[in-house]
Amino acid sequence: MEHQGIIPLARSVETGNLAPLKKPITIAGGGLAGLSLGIALQSRGVAVTLHEASAYPRHRVCGEFISGVGRETLATLGIADCLDDATHLQSASWSDSAGRLAEMQAPGRGISRWKLDDHLQRQFLSLGGTLVTNSRIAPDSGIIWAAGRPRQPSPWLGLKCHARNLPLTHDLEMFTSPGGYIGLAKIEDGMVNICGLFKARPARGAKGSALLLTMLREASLHALADRLEAADLDESSFCGVAGFQTGLQTGPTFSIGDAASMIPPFTGNGMSMAFESAECALQPALDYAAGCKSWLEAAEASTASQDSRFKRRLTTAAILHQLLMNRAALRITRTLARRKMLPFQTLLHLVR
Ligand SMILES: Cc1cc2nc3c(=O)[nH]c(=O)nc-3n(C[C@H](O)[C@H](O)[C@H](O)COP(=O)(O)OP(=O)(O)OC[C@H]3O[C@@H](n4cnc5c(N)ncnc54)[C@H](O)[C@@H]3O)c2cc1C
Repeated sequence: MEHQGIIPLARSVETGNLAPLKKPITIAGGGLAGLSLGIALQSRGVAVTLHEASAYPRHRVCGEFISGVGRETLATLGIADCLDDATHLQSASWSDSAGRLAEMQAPGRGISRWKLDDHLQRQFLSLGGTLVTNSRIAPDSGIIWAAGRPRQPSPWLGLKCHARNLPLTHDLEMFTSPGGYIGLAKIEDGMVNICGLFKARPARGAKGSALLLTMLREASLHALADRLEAADLDESSFCGVAGFQTGLQTGPTFSIGDAASMIPPFTGNGMSMAFESAECALQPALDYAAGCKSWLEAAEASTASQDSRFKRRLTTAAILHQLLMNRAALRITRTLARRKMLPFQTLLHLVR
């Protein structure tokens, strides 16, 4: 019910004082965007019910390399502690099928979604939030939509798998080919996350890590496939996803995270954007809960805030993604990289 001049009051449990009663909020999707917004709202006295289609802990297709998220964002959302187990990453390299192209600094953190999402859901529960797992709900007005990348036709196939006994030359190793790209990132407990985005259709019959290795060989990344074959691949962590598009999404009015916009994965900025989008939605959602904004006004304020924050990086990343996937452009980029003529730090800045 919308606020119509009379503000209902409730007695605060902590102080015993009368305070304006805040409207409860429902969120669909317990990934990074939904859980972090849920935590931030719940800690500000808004009762949140969050529906998650699966249960925790669980693996997600993700490079598990977080970069670009600011301390203020984590502090505002109240989730900084959830990243305590993350490994601090610094060095990065970029290679193709012919060998190393460049080395660079790419500061970030590595942590599995198995661990990170589990930390976040525990924090949400500890604040009194209501979490309904194994609950896939349909979009409806009055629900904040944080249900991740919407399904749509696309040529992309995302695969991920954890490995042990896989020595890395850099904290993050990136490999590109016109058929796709793949990143190896150090995560917690000495594990390495392997995650790739591929253009080709999966080979019929191949499953699990065998599918990942097939895709690597089809992308002519044979040396990398040999390295992975020699490592201990954790089959239980293998997951895949298809049917999604990067860029702005046309989902329900009040959407956050990938449900609102998805930056191409090579940027390593999607998780940061999920947190930042929760930050963009926080004040509008609080205004709605306090009766100062209608649902539509709150949704529009959240969208406007995300648009202005993400426009530049989404546009730049879309152009770079096209170049990465284009054989001729990749050849030129490769030459520039070998001659140390690519401004990596500027490019990294533009997609953050
Ligand atoms: C191949 C690949 C590699 C990537 N690598 C990186 C990387 O290295 N670094 C980085 O920062 N980002 C990376 N990303 C992007 C990153 O994973 C996403 O941007 C991030 O997960 C978005 O978080 P989210 O909360 O919006 O969505 P998600 O994490 O997808 O969470 C959505 C949640 O909603 C649930 N759900 C779905 N439908 C419903 C429903 N109807 N009702 C209830 N619940 C529902 C799902 O089960 C899920 O738990 C990568 C993405 C891909 C595809």
